[in-house]
Amino acid sequence: MPPGPIGMHVCGPTVYQRIHVGNARPFIFSMWLRRWLELSGYQARLVLNVTDINDRIHDAARAQGIGSAELARQATQWYFEDTSALGLGRPDVEPLATETVPEIVALIGELIAGGLAYESAGDVYFRVARFPDYGLLSGARPEDMVAHEPGPRKEDPRDFALWKANKPREDTWWPSPWGRGRPGWHIECSAMAEKHLGPRFEIHGGGLDLRFPHHENEVAQSRGAGREFARLWTHNGMLELRAEKMSKSVGNIVSLRASLEAWGREPVLVFFLNAHYRSAVEYSDAAMEAARVQVADFRAAARVAEPRPSAFTWDSFRAALDDDFDTPRALSILHAWRAAGQVELLGRGLRVFGLAIDVDGTEAPPEVHRLAEARQAARKGRDFRDADRLRSEIDRLGWDVQDGSGGAFRLVRKRR
Ligand SMILES: [Zn+2]
Repeated sequence: MPPGPIGMHVCGPTVYQRIHVGNARPFIFSMWLRRWLELSGYQARLVLNVTDINDRIHDAARAQGIGSAELARQATQWYFEDTSALGLGRPDVEPLATETVPEIVALIGELIAGGLAYESAGDVYFRVARFPDYGLLSGARPEDMVAHEPGPRKEDPRDFALWKANKPREDTWWPSPWGRGRPGWHIECSAMAEKHLGPRFEIHGGGLDLRFPHHENEVAQSRGAGREFARLWTHNGMLELRAEKMSKSVGNIVSLRASLEAWGREPVLVFFLNAHYRSAVEYSDAAMEAARVQVADFRAAARVAEPRPSAFTWDSFRAALDDDFDTPRALSILHAWRAAGQVELLGRGLRVFGLAIDVDGTEAPPEVHRLAEARQAARKGRDFRDADRLRSEIDRLGWDVQDGSGGAFRLVRKRR
């Protein structure tokens, strides 16, 4: 039995407009990874935060003539709607920065007490010179910090803000020992990860663009305050757009919602499966069309009558995902199973990624499977109260779970 539980913190979006399809990548990847860890017998807990305090929110709200709190609330709702439409379920905790201000203020207070931070005219800055390991994560030098956060109130141009004094043009603020203001962005993740996962956790994720300075600063804050913090980092590659192609179809900035409306959720998921999470991936109509064709091929597999032997077993598939979550290799195995008419293995493999071959609605959707698997795990751990709760949730979604021998189960659609 693997050691558990596995805590995961992933940096989520800043909410001021509909999220870009590229912002869906950390969400999709971390939901897949959580599911894969659970299927591998781990207990996993995913915290994916929402940054609802930020300069961009203030700027966008002012441009639209509405309050920034109102815009952040609206855009958070859009984010929940659009990512729910991916059909992968939700993370375990989705903390908002605005809900975490007391923990943020406390952590800043600790850093000041330890000499790693200082107050200056209502701002609070992290003293980069006092954290010798600065740069270990990203390879950046403290000097590289200078361009990112200019500010005349700093002791040292390399220092970065933990707390920002309220400016006259900002319509949201919180009280603090340093006067009214708002948290900096980096400190929010240090405080949230600790609040929901404890001082040490296993996996920290987010886009490659966040490695420096955001994640480097998170490490400085949390380790500086004596926490062990994250043990492993998973940085996903960026999504690139071919501008001339995009402008013809859905505009230069493609929102997740626009992509889902144009292509449907399964092609969006298969599009991301095609690339290893660490690689950059290019979003284009041609790439989405290729993903759509793959989905159609998987669906057609359900109609192949005679299965033929395949060189790939479930262990081959497992090995691909256990090897730094190699989804392109897993996808090629799914296609090999499809070509061989191995519908059972194909369906099982697709469900890992929230996909299904079934088109007539007789197969339970991936979210119901996930609940049923969680129920099996609860039964195995003799947590019958949780098992009952999960059964009623499955029931509420219109499915009945029937137990077989050795932990096997079957999902049957309930008659209405
Ligand atoms: Zn973060």
